[in-house]
Order: sequence, then structure tokens, then C-alpha cells
Amino acid sequence: MSGNHTFTIIKPCAVKSGYIGAILADIQKGGFEISAMKYVQMTQAQAEAFYSVHKERPFYGELVQFMISGPVVVAILKHGNAVEEYRKLIGATNPAQAAEGTIRKKYAKGVQENAVHGSDSDENAAVESNFFFSQCERF
Ligand code: ADP
Ligand code: MG
Repeated sequence: MSGNHTFTIIKPCAVKSGYIGAILADIQKGGFEISAMKYVQMTQAQAEAFYSVHKERPFYGELVQFMISGPVVVAILKHGNAVEEYRKLIGATNPAQAAEGTIRKKYAKGVQENAVHGSDSDENAAVESNFFFSQCERF
């Protein structure tokens, strides 16, 4: 059974480019409901913890610096089979490989500055949602 929630971040590159509204519109057109949302700037310690699964990857340090380079929008999204459906809506990690019409194809600048985050499993969706939101901040 697949879960009904996933977690997303509108990354600093997309916020700076003025794409918050367009990305939220695509998310809602895709049939996702917003269960929780806020506008935050992560500290370095928070970004390191959030991306700790990527600690050993060569781009980890740069990724953390990028993710704290400005404010982001974090949200919990509701949809049937949410994790998989949202990964389809956002497209491949590298926008050069992302399908036409996907959020990353439309709004990403590159493989790092790729506009949005989307959870890769139900388990991580829960961990990531709990990282940013308390019980009374989700509906
Ligand atoms: P995804 O976000 O599609 O799940 P990953 O979990 O593999 O991708 O990577 C996490 C994030 O790290 C990516 O969204 C991107 O911002 C960054 N990233 C991934 N691969 C690279 C790379 N080769 N060079 C620089 N940054 C990368
Ligand atoms: Mg990932």
C-alpha cells in the first residue's frame, strides 16, 4: 500500500526566480492538496541534517550551501500514491533528462538548482514532514 502524503521543498533558486506561485499552481493542477506549508530559511545544521543521507556524496557540501542560500517553501502534499505521483510531476533530478511539462523541466536551472525536492519513499516522506512540521501544523 502506498501512502497519501509526500513532502516537497521549493528550493532557493526557484524562490529567487519568482516561481513560487507557478510551482504551487502546477502542484494544485496536478491534483495535490496542501496539508501543510510554510516559508523558512534553514540553518546550516538543519540543512546538513535534512540531507544527511547524502553525506558521502561529492556534492553534499555544495548542496547544503545552496539550500541555505535563501528562503524556501516547505509543504506536505496529499494525493493518492503521493510519493510516486509527485516524482512524476517534478521529473528527473537533472532537468536535461526531465520530461516535457514537468516542474523541473520548466523551472530548474541545473542538476543542483533543480527547483524542487520530492520525497523518494513513504518512509522518507514521513521523516521529512516531521522534520519541519508539528502535528498541529498539518491539516
Ligand atoms: P532527487 O532530488 O531527484 O531525489 P537526489 O536525492 O539524488 O535527487 O539528490 C538530492 C539533491 O542533490 C538533488 O535534488 C540536487 O539538488 C542535488 N544533486 C543531485 N545530484 C547532483 C549532482 N550530480 N551534482 C550536484 N548536485 C546534485
Ligand atoms: Mg532524493
